[in-house]
Amino acid sequence: MKQIQMVDLVTQYEKIKSEVNEATQNVFQTAQFINGPEVKTFQADLEKYLAVKHVIPCANGTDALQIALMALGLNPGDEVITSDFTFAATVEVIGLLKLTPILVDVRGDNFNIDICKMEAAITPKTKAIIPVHLFGQCANMDAVMEVAKRHNLFVLEDTAQAIGAKYFHENGKTSSAGTIGHIGTTSFFPSKNLGCYGDGGAIFTNDDELAAIMRSIVNHGMGERYYYERLGVNSRLDSVQAAVLRIKLGHLDDYIVARQKAAAYYSNFFSDFDNVEPPFIANYSTHVFHQYTLKIEGLDQFALQDFIKSKGIPAMIYYPMPLHTQKAYGAENFNHEDFPVTNALCKTVISLPMHTELDEEQLSYICNAMKEFLNK
Ligand SMILES: *Cc1c(COP(=O)(O)O)cnc(C)c1O
Repeated sequence: MKQIQMVDLVTQYEKIKSEVNEATQNVFQTAQFINGPEVKTFQADLEKYLAVKHVIPCANGTDALQIALMALGLNPGDEVITSDFTFAATVEVIGLLKLTPILVDVRGDNFNIDICKMEAAITPKTKAIIPVHLFGQCANMDAVMEVAKRHNLFVLEDTAQAIGAKYFHENGKTSSAGTIGHIGTTSFFPSKNLGCYGDGGAIFTNDDELAAIMRSIVNHGMGERYYYERLGVNSRLDSVQAAVLRIKLGHLDDYIVARQKAAAYYSNFFSDFDNVEPPFIANYSTHVFHQYTLKIEGLDQFALQDFIKSKGIPAMIYYPMPLHTQKAYGAENFNHEDFPVTNALCKTVISLPMHTELDEEQLSYICNAMKEFLNK
């Protein structure tokens, strides 16, 4: 059996080696490393794939969030609401811009922001909401947008874990994750569902005005050449990464199917255990399984992690600590009792190996090791 990894990027590369090598060699040979034709082609391909008007490539998913927030013209002290149960970057950028992060508890089923608690957290200072499509499944965006509209708030979708997921609106329409709010952002970190071979990110919007502002921000706030209209940053996707991404975007739908197949194998197996809850599948979203995360009641997650590790199986606790307990994000401003769901999730979740290259032999081996521990 092939060694089991959380993510197997080497095997994935072997399968697309000739395409990737040709595309990247071409960049080396033309030496157009910055803003070369590959960047424009990938941008156009991704706009088409997502059915969104503007894709703005940038250096990573954290920059994408920061640039999106910078474009909104907010003032220090304005409040931005986001999820307590997410990767730190989502909250970090709010603080970096001297905005006030307001963390909200999540739902126990889909791990995404709790809409009722989100609405209850809105104050006159609230300017934006950042729902996170955690682990590959959309937050309930119709509900988010309805609340945002009523309170006149911007919505930024953190789509770093859910590129390619589809959202089914109540009115029968379908949207790609990241194209529903005012702005969507994503990361092309290697282990993300659409990952490059280094760092990369992108911002999506259907709003022409916001797109123009963000294109300026990624390039030092420049308008006309050498006229600086606003404070910006230097955040670019380089041409080598764009070439890799252009090739991998062509495989993204197959990659999603491969993840969904592995997830179906796991979920079928774990449905037999009373204390194990496989991932919830919402009727309003597909799940692209950036992570396959089980909730297991009455168990020492770390003992499980150690046990399967001793059998050569990696597993991760995403996330072991609620963000409201973190010093960097103003832990003293939050009341621990306001986050019962996140507090409990941090003690019950475990993410199993999930990637595009898992085969049945590996899946069966992982499931049997889990069974051995669960039946002890
Ligand atoms: C990965 C990730 C980011 C940050 O992306 P980077 O490219 O690593 O900067 C932001 N938000 C979420 C939810 C993520 O998973």
